[in-house]
Amino acid sequence: MFRGEIPAKTPPQDYGISVSRGFPGGIDTGFTKPKIVARAALKRRHVSFSGPVNGALRNAPFTVRNNQVIVMTNSAAPHLLPVFARADIGFERGEGVWLIATNGDRYLDFTSGVAVNALGHAHPALVKALQEQATKLWHMSNLFQSPDGEKLAARLCSESFADLVFFCNSGAEALEGVIKLVRHHHFSKGHPERYRIITFEGAFHGRTLATLAATGAAKYLEGFGPPMDGFDQVPHGDLEAVKKAISPHTAGILIEPIQGEGGVRSAPSGFLKALRQLCDEKGLLLAFDEVQTGMGRTGDLFAYRRTGVTPDVMSLAKALGGGFPIGAILATADAAAGMGPGSHGSTFGGNPLAIAAANAVLDVMLKPGFFDHVQKMSLLLKQKLASVIDRHPDVVSEVRGEGLLIGIKAVVPSGDLVAALRKEKLLTVGAGDNVVRFLPPLIVTEAEIEDSVIRLERACAALSSNKRAAS
Ligand code: PLP
Repeated sequence: MFRGEIPAKTPPQDYGISVSRGFPGGIDTGFTKPKIVARAALKRRHVSFSGPVNGALRNAPFTVRNNQVIVMTNSAAPHLLPVFARADIGFERGEGVWLIATNGDRYLDFTSGVAVNALGHAHPALVKALQEQATKLWHMSNLFQSPDGEKLAARLCSESFADLVFFCNSGAEALEGVIKLVRHHHFSKGHPERYRIITFEGAFHGRTLATLAATGAAKYLEGFGPPMDGFDQVPHGDLEAVKKAISPHTAGILIEPIQGEGGVRSAPSGFLKALRQLCDEKGLLLAFDEVQTGMGRTGDLFAYRRTGVTPDVMSLAKALGGGFPIGAILATADAAAGMGPGSHGSTFGGNPLAIAAANAVLDVMLKPGFFDHVQKMSLLLKQKLASVIDRHPDVVSEVRGEGLLIGIKAVVPSGDLVAALRKEKLLTVGAGDNVVRFLPPLIVTEAEIEDSVIRLERACAALSSNKRAAS
């Protein structure tokens, strides 16, 4: 990695490279066309920009990868591997839907830690569960029985299609397990040649080598060696392409019921049902990645319950622990055939603290009326966002999503909208397809939704007037 000062007056020379202006949550938010000084200067670790690169980039650390310069903006963390372009705010505590910065400023948190803090920050039921568990048992490995883990697994099974659960620590780890389980299903039935999985353009399944290969996006894969074999990616929503991709080597189909990182993109109507039919006809497993859509985000405990289509395998993580790291694979007994002792494992998976947090999350979510509230808030937010679009069509153009997984398609670069909202002390998350995600905690109130829309209105007005001034 190169780190360097950007000298202000070096004559620029165009090498046709691009600068990424930030990856909140790992997603590119916009590109500018910079100019870079001669290669000799690069070796001296100096780089200069022209065009619409603003002063904030001066002195910014940057990396050079192949012929691409990547600038880490607002890096206030010199000892953290600069893989995130962190916004220049630090938070010291949270209260429900609010985050309180180190300087005392209060922010309305419509990121929920990227769909994690479904019950908001410092929810009393979660605090109590973790405090109690912390005095009893933190860790004890999977060499022994886990009564609370068994209870959580039984509850997840009784709320879903699944018979069996495996606990792990993150979304990517859950997806790794899903991929292994799908392959092993066919292996155990005498078909080791069936190991390939069909995935979809715009998907996001994680950052490990297998989940990156399943994700299939060149921008994440570049520079990390040959992608793992075994994935056939087709355009999202294209049934004919799926049919064509099926071969004697195909083991299953993996899809997010709604693409989250890809830009809050739902599959076309009837698509998931058609995938189910295809899987049944061809003996394939249907795997849903519900890491982002699961645990109430779309207005029911699992998004699949709203689609009328039941998968054979499902991944969960994010909101499962309400902020405590835990992931899970849920599967039917048939899908999991062959996953016997030794076929998979994890040191921390099913850790008692994580299990206590997840059982407490379920206690709250399974109370009558919880999902009615999510749906009511969803409707209110969507209506209010639609009226902002009517007033600011030069800034935002479309509302998408279900429950409180809401995306607004921006007309301006989505990174500019996220930054303008941050100035208004409303935190949101960028996504693919120039979308800004509104992911409030599911306990958000009507008043907080109204407050968020006032802030959006102000941010749109500021961006509109910037646009007018620039033209
Ligand atoms: N799958 C989906 C649908 C996701 O949205 C994500 C993360 O954004 C992942 C998998 C990876 O999860 P994690 O970051 O916990 O590894």
